[in-house]
Amino acid sequence: MTDSPFASYLEMVERVGALLALPENDRKPLRAPKRSIIVTLPVEMDDGRVETFTGYRVQYDTVRGPGKGGIRYHPDVTLEEVKALAAWMSVKCAVVDVPFGGAKGGIAVDPSRLSRRELERLTRRYTAEIFDIIGPDRDIPAPDVGTDPQIMAWVMDTISMKRGYVEPGTVTGKPVALGGSRGREEATARGLLYAVRAAFRVLGLTLEGARVAIQGFGNVGANTARLLHAAGARVIALSDVRGGVYAPEGLDPEAAMRHARQTGSVVDLPGTRPISNAQLLALECDLLVPAALGGQLTAENAPAVRARVIAEGANGPTTPEADAILRRRGVFIVPDILANAGGVVVSYFEWVQDRYGYFWKEEVVRERLAEKMQQAFHDVLAMAERYRVDMRTAAYALGVERIVEARRLRGLYA
Ligand code: NAD
Repeated sequence: MTDSPFASYLEMVERVGALLALPENDRKPLRAPKRSIIVTLPVEMDDGRVETFTGYRVQYDTVRGPGKGGIRYHPDVTLEEVKALAAWMSVKCAVVDVPFGGAKGGIAVDPSRLSRRELERLTRRYTAEIFDIIGPDRDIPAPDVGTDPQIMAWVMDTISMKRGYVEPGTVTGKPVALGGSRGREEATARGLLYAVRAAFRVLGLTLEGARVAIQGFGNVGANTARLLHAAGARVIALSDVRGGVYAPEGLDPEAAMRHARQTGSVVDLPGTRPISNAQLLALECDLLVPAALGGQLTAENAPAVRARVIAEGANGPTTPEADAILRRRGVFIVPDILANAGGVVVSYFEWVQDRYGYFWKEEVVRERLAEKMQQAFHDVLAMAERYRVDMRTAAYALGVERIVEARRLRGLYA
């Protein structure tokens, strides 16, 4: 066993390959991406120096539709990581049954060290370099760690200028004024809320008053805190890269958002005690939401986890070893490819709206998101019951089964 995210994907493919009794011919195409590209991006910095950055785009499996997946700006981005994230996207899109394959992109950069103008030049150069392989029928990027709606607007503008016409459906997570979908920004968190509600119902737990700890306070973490609080849960701990805060009686996520906007972090939020990220993961709580980066729950810290339920907001927050420990200890895990799929579901809605040029009200988005998440949760639960496996194995089995079915129907070209 290994902590490499791609190795953990391959391990899951083999596990569900055996479970579903898939012949080798069905498993083989799942083991490698359709296409990976590496691009070098020279960018003029504000002081006149030229810096070069490395960017990636991986299209993993596209048998069910065009590639779909975020763009990550983070110093640790590597081809290996992007490949794993693209592979997970392929299975995730199949689990929530949206007509996309999986893809992912990224640039090895710390965006907080760049000015807005530098970030714009970097984004436009990256988009120009992957221009030929993205588009509404090929591969549709979206935000991920370190990227936001403004960056998606620059991607959309670069593509549109090069094509010579406005092409909003080339990227999702755009500002609403440019053809973004209402409800996209909070979609991952809202989808997670719906998945958690379904899980709590099945487990006979109630969300009202449930104690929640959330690691990561970006798009996913902050919106999750806000929505769970509004749903009656008690958010007792939050954290970001600088550290965490703890309030056993519960804290106000809106106040934490204001504090983070002013100071750049949740640390020192009035009315709370300081706590480290490691302490947060070990808090006694009803629900733990890792919503930062991958590989946070490991063989070392999993034995200390005292949560009843874990809903994975981040991609790959739990290593396979930690997963096995948590399962043995009876923690109910709503896996990433289900728990955080609300983002790609509303990205799908955005792509649909862009393609027919008719935009939905926020209530319509929410209603359809709820329907998709509940359906996916119950499809995964049915798999778990049928094969007597945990929710992660069941989600992979469902996604892989759908991908394999599509490939069998299409056949192999040439
Ligand atoms: P973001 O950049 O908005 O926020 C990331 C947060 O994590 C920040 O608060 C940052 O301070 C914190 N963080 C970073 N390193 C940390 C560390 N070592 N310990 C604790 N906190 C740390 O990113 P996001 O869009 O919220 O994405 C978070 C996770 O959710 C990622 O794994 C991403 O792939 C996944 N995800 C995001 C979306 C989406 O729609 N944005 C969809 C599905 C999955």
